[in-house]
This record gives sequence, C-alpha cells and structure tokens, in this order.
Amino acid sequence: MKITKNLDLTSYNSYKIKASCKVAYFPESEEDIVSFFTLNKDFILLGSGHNIIFSKDYYEKPMLLFNGNFNQVEVEDDVLEIEAGAMMWDVAQLALEVGLSGVEIFYDIPSSLGGAIVMNAGASGEEIKDVLVKVRYLDLADLQIKEIFKEEMSFEYRNSFFQRNTDKIVLKAWLKLQKKGKTEIREKMELLKTQRWAKQPKDFPNAGSVFKRPSGYYVGALIDELHMKGFTIGGAKISEKHGGFIINFNNASGSDILEIIEEVKRRVYNLHQVKLEVEQRVI
Ligand SMILES: Cc1cc2nc3c(=O)[nH]c(=O)nc-3n(C[C@H](O)[C@H](O)[C@H](O)COP(=O)(O)OP(=O)(O)OC[C@H]3O[C@@H](n4cnc5c(N)ncnc54)[C@H](O)[C@@H]3O)c2cc1C
Repeated sequence: MKITKNLDLTSYNSYKIKASCKVAYFPESEEDIVSFFTLNKDFILLGSGHNIIFSKDYYEKPMLLFNGNFNQVEVEDDVLEIEAGAMMWDVAQLALEVGLSGVEIFYDIPSSLGGAIVMNAGASGEEIKDVLVKVRYLDLADLQIKEIFKEEMSFEYRNSFFQRNTDKIVLKAWLKLQKKGKTEIREKMELLKTQRWAKQPKDFPNAGSVFKRPSGYYVGALIDELHMKGFTIGGAKISEKHGGFIINFNNASGSDILEIIEEVKRRVYNLHQVKLEVEQRVI
C-alpha cells in the first residue's frame, strides 16, 4: 500500500481547496484495507473527492483514499465486478467497449465506484441503484467482510445504506447491465455529456450540485428568485451559469463555501420556509 506523509490535498478535492493531511494511505487490495482499519479506529475516508468540502486546512487523522487505486474491473457476460477505487467514467468507457448499456450517465459524473454507491449518484432520471446487484463491504463493527443485496439497502435520492452507516466501507460492487449496440451506447454518452456541459460551470473548480433538490422546488430557480447568482464570499461564489453550483474562483477556503451555503439556506427558508439539505459531505 502506498503511504504518503504530509500529503497536499489540493488535487484530491474537486473544489481545489488547499489542505493537507499528516498521513494518507492508498490501498491496493482488501488486505490493505483490513490492515488499515485494524490499526486505525479514528480516520477520514475519501473517494475521488468530487462531493466533499474540506472545512480544515490540516488533518491530523489518518486518511484512506480510493482515488484511482484499488480499481480492478472484471467483466463476466453482462455483469461488471468493480473495486471501490475504480473511476466511474472509466467503467462507462469499458462498458462501451464491451457493448454493455446502463452506466452511460457516469461518463460525465466524476466519481469512484464507492462514492457513487454511498451518494446513490445519478442524473437524467437514472441512479447507480438501477443497475446495482450487490455490494461487498468491510463492517468496522466486527472487521468482517460481508455482502449485501440492493433490495436490502433501501436507497433514496442521493442517500444510501452506506451514507447512513458510516462504519461500513464499500469494497466492491456488481452491476448488471444490458447488451446493446456500441453506436447507441456511444450516442447516449455523448448526448448526456453535451447537455450537461451546456448547463454546468466547467471553467472553475466545483463539486457539482451543492444542495439536494427540495420537493416541489428547483434549487437553481430558488437562487434566481433570490438574485443570488454571483453572490461571493472570499474566493467562492455562486456560479453565474448554474445557481445550484458554488465555484472556487480565487483560492477559496472551505469556510468561504460553508458561509455561502448558510446564507442560501437562511434566505431560502425566510422566503419559502423550505429547509435546504446539503448534498456535499463536509470533512
Ligand atoms: C462537475 C461535477 C458534476 C457532478 N454531477 C453529479 C451528478 O450529475 N449526479 C450526482 O449524483 N453527483 C454529481 N456530482 C457529485 C459527485 O460526482 C458524486 O457525489 C460522486 O458520487 C462522489 O464520488 P467520490 O468518489 O468523489 O466521493 P467523495 O466525494 O470522495 O466522497 C463522498 C462520500 O462518500 C464516502 N465514501 C467514498 N468512498 C467510500 C467507500 N469506498 N466506502 C464508504 N464510504 C465512501 C466519503 O467518506 C464521503 O462521505 C458532480 C460533481 C462534480 C464535480
């Protein structure tokens, strides 16, 4: 297992917030993961860092990262067996190469497999749970490796069994896809990507939608109504292109982003008595 002391975390979070940690572990196998958790009871766990806000500039606790390491993918007929650190856009690309459909949305959702399951990531009416069969995980309660089927996980919109049970670490998952023509798969991937790039701010670091969609409202429309596009604190601001995104336009700190979030929540509540829920995980 690769172990790095005093790791600069700027390139390990998509907001590009400057932070560092005392020691970072990059596991390559289940044995590495079990040995990390045998030794460390108090830790920080990151996937590819595309849905997190660093609230501190230095982390003393040991950090375990699934960021392109522990990333093997096996194809057996129409089922993919994927390790937690595999990037989902690589999985989408591989599925295209073998003529399997069902993960096209992940061509443009930056995520590790583990992060996608924890967040129940998705777009355009599809979510990872739609293709999920089962997950293999390490249960920190007894340090045993277990498996759980989709039906037992009670997924919700951007929520999952693993988000509610942070002592369960996703090791691997099986996705069942559908055989389809490569041209059709490629076209869907490209279409989804083009549609998303037209709407989202791609020129500044961000971590996707900040808030979950509240029932009966759209976050972008609420921000428009409040005239908050471009609202700035320190180096962070609400994107002028998409009000649901906060961007780091000038060396933002995590607290700049968190202060904007609090202000949006306060104003939305005052206007509509709607309590916005933050999708991103504060570390
Ligand atoms: C430009 C952009 C566009 C985006 N668009 C979308 C979108 O369309 N739809 C969508 O759903 N999301 C979107 N996101 C958000 C992000 O891509 C997803 O939330 C993604 O699933 C996060 O995965 P990650 O590996 O980066 O997880 P991280 O951000 O690293 O971690 C998220 C949480 O998962 C936990 N975690 C990670 N790996 C594991 C594991 N193996 N076991 C247990 N816990 C784990 C972490 O501790 C943390 O609490 C977007 C982000 C960006 C930057």
